[in-house]
Amino acid sequence: MTGGAGAHGRGGAEELIAPAPPRPSDPLAPCVHCGFCLPACPTYLATGDEADSPRGRILLMRALDREEMTSADAALVEHLDACLGCRGCEPVCPSGVQYGRGLEQARERLFAERGLPPLARAVLGVFRDQRLWRPLFTLARLFRSTGVPRALAGGGRLGFGMGMVAATRSDSRTGARAHGRAGRPAEGAPEDTQTARPTDRAPVRLSARAPVRPRVALFRGCVMDTLFRHVHEATRRTLEANGYQVVEVGGQTCCGALHEHAGDRQGATALALQNLAAFSGETDFIVVNSAGCGALLKEYGHLLGGVAAEALGARVRDVSELLAAAGPRHGAPIDLHVAYDAPCHLQHAQRVHDAPLAVLRAIPGLRLRLLPGSDQCCGSAGIYAVLKPEMARAVLDRKIRSFADANPRPDIVTTGNPGCLMQIGAGLLAARLPIGVAHPVEILDWSYARAGLYEGAETPGRRDAEVAK
Ligand code: SF4
Ligand code: SF4
Repeated sequence: MTGGAGAHGRGGAEELIAPAPPRPSDPLAPCVHCGFCLPACPTYLATGDEADSPRGRILLMRALDREEMTSADAALVEHLDACLGCRGCEPVCPSGVQYGRGLEQARERLFAERGLPPLARAVLGVFRDQRLWRPLFTLARLFRSTGVPRALAGGGRLGFGMGMVAATRSDSRTGARAHGRAGRPAEGAPEDTQTARPTDRAPVRLSARAPVRPRVALFRGCVMDTLFRHVHEATRRTLEANGYQVVEVGGQTCCGALHEHAGDRQGATALALQNLAAFSGETDFIVVNSAGCGALLKEYGHLLGGVAAEALGARVRDVSELLAAAGPRHGAPIDLHVAYDAPCHLQHAQRVHDAPLAVLRAIPGLRLRLLPGSDQCCGSAGIYAVLKPEMARAVLDRKIRSFADANPRPDIVTTGNPGCLMQIGAGLLAARLPIGVAHPVEILDWSYARAGLYEGAETPGRRDAEVAK
């Protein structure tokens, strides 16, 4: 169905915004160099180098600000580039240093004075234009369906890239495989048809607890709208099962988070303006199932300035927030060990901690665990894993070891961000661990399908019964 949102063109949005707001003078000023943030920093833990810690980077950023160092200093650039932007240092800081804001300002300056390396420029160029990223990711999706990426997944650079593509697949059969039960799909069957599941547009039996149906516009994004479209469908079904009315909004595009993190404010602003125009219609909420996108959408007021952008940001919710606010409705039991891994942009940027756990606790029988390091960055960080593969892998390896050492091992690692799903999924494949990855709403969706909440859905078949018994 198509909602009434999105009536304005781009010119309309430009009229709605004010000039870009001034940046806070020095968000790093409260730093007292106590070092409490060091153990929370994944890059410091990986290298042990003070210059790869928040405290060290704050000194570098201050030196840049005071003209004691310049953007031509290779060491300064290297250590600031090596920051994941995960903001894991913020919640542990007793002085309230806004590290993320400080990094944003420093990266804008580096971008203005140095530009970006060719690879980063090329990647961000693709995400700026829907005519580039949509066919590219659609091709990747077709490639994924051949099974080749999964077969070639491994620890080398090419193998890891293949693993990232393979990890985007809906993986409801993982539980069956992990338990070693019968009923696995035949080898060679098209992978996207191997698991019986509700049809994408299956109508939903409405919750009796929700007589008023808030209208929710689905933010589709780029990677989520191509490689993770199954998560969008699970989002729609689970929200409707909890009393929301989900509407589609035309004219939207990539959120611009990758550009913003790289210091390309102009690129981020162009994309944000397009989304501001698209979502100017009347809905109660804008739902996002990608933590990175949600974090920036909530901050469109900061990026663009103006009442309209602030109002848009105030309507944005992570899907877990909406589901948790509705209860959420319980599904049928699923007998799986599940480890929840918190995306940095959900826990640190959006300060959403409990909602994803409430979603997973609505699934009877699920054995939910938070393993050591579940709150630490996986090393994905937007395009960081592409630009800094060695550091990204060093950060990821700690997390993969935690899954490998867990007793019992999880069947599935669940996290609400596409980059994390790809990074962790590729790491698990490289380590040959029989652990799948899934978005929390996917698991809730399997539970709801099993409970018969979706009218007209394909009856969960024997293969699903291996996952949800
Ligand atoms: S950022 Fe905060 S925790 Fe880290 S050194 Fe500065 S004051 Fe201490
Ligand atoms: S944002 Fe993350 S990687 Fe960067 S200094 Fe803070 S904790 Fe370390």
